[in-house]
Amino acid sequence: MPGPSARRRGRIAISQRGNPPAILAHLFRRAPHARTLRLVDQVESVRTPASWVVVGLDNGGTCNNATVLDATGQFLVDHLVENPSLVQDGPESAIEQLAEAFAGILTITSTPRTLVRAVGLDTPGPASANGVISSKGATNFAQVSWHGFDIRGALEARIGLPVIYNNDANAAALYAHHRHFGATAMDRSSVSAIVGTGLGGGVVESGKVVSGAAGMAGELGHVQIPLHGVLEEDQPLPQCNCGFAGDVESIASLTGIKNNLLPYWLPKFPGHPLASERIGKAAKLLRSYGEKEDPLALAVFEQQAKAIGKLFTIAANFTDPAAYFLGGGVVEAAPRFRQWFLNVVRENTQLRQEQSAAATFALVPDLDMAGARGAAVAALETVRPT
Ligand SMILES: [Zn+2]
Repeated sequence: MPGPSARRRGRIAISQRGNPPAILAHLFRRAPHARTLRLVDQVESVRTPASWVVVGLDNGGTCNNATVLDATGQFLVDHLVENPSLVQDGPESAIEQLAEAFAGILTITSTPRTLVRAVGLDTPGPASANGVISSKGATNFAQVSWHGFDIRGALEARIGLPVIYNNDANAAALYAHHRHFGATAMDRSSVSAIVGTGLGGGVVESGKVVSGAAGMAGELGHVQIPLHGVLEEDQPLPQCNCGFAGDVESIASLTGIKNNLLPYWLPKFPGHPLASERIGKAAKLLRSYGEKEDPLALAVFEQQAKAIGKLFTIAANFTDPAAYFLGGGVVEAAPRFRQWFLNVVRENTQLRQEQSAAATFALVPDLDMAGARGAAVAALETVRPT
């Protein structure tokens, strides 16, 4: 997830970059008695006992981001509300920071704690479906004390409320799905690819994330793809940190740019200004060159878009989704560039005529908030009356 890099450090920091809140009233359609008419900015308005809420907490490498979703399907926060995540200090500090984020967002939205039915939590993976961090650790959870740590259970014990866990890519995919489909979300399916340091993914069926037996469904970055038409004749097979060669993340991620694509493409453009930068910095700068239609940058991003198209072609034959969502740094790029990128993805996704007529391609909205909002949607889904 590229979100945290765009976030500010510091105590509760507020950005006004967010779009107006999504209305997800369909999530509550089975309990219409609790509908209330309330504008999102009037959070101080009087609540009835029926107007319960869920809280969404997005745990990132630098910051936590928090939101509140009420029983009518409205988000009570339309901007980033953050505090430091302190994940690098180990589980004890990080759980306290999550508890502080939880308390802080209730204060900001004037929400009594007694109205909170559940908390949705998302973190970067790898972790189990129940929020146990991989026994080998993870990029954001490097300290040994994190290895095999049950972050969901620890937060649940700390705040005394049910905590529902998703990994960050699954949470963003869930939010994209509900935001896009609105009232028909529970009848639809989608696949999301989110390009960041890695390639995060999410598969949603009938409005719910497919998590899998071990919590590892939707790890779309590590799906191996046919490389014909993606790589140049003389291009080495891209390697992924997971041990696979030629999977989507080995091409369509910042890590893929740094380890595989730039080392191949840079020597083909002698005198390019990025050649004098460290490779890691050059990889990060590449998007700004893409926005200026620099030929080297376009060659790299075209390969990324083609790789995602190959992935979506597999998805088309696997779950045949109603929507293909694309998220990550590219969504934050200049409109002309991101549209070009999405078009290349679309052109390289081979759909049957019937599928083309039924499916849509779209960008994941509100990216910085998508994790917290998706986590909240998952919590609401879990506790709403049936
Ligand atoms: Zn991989």
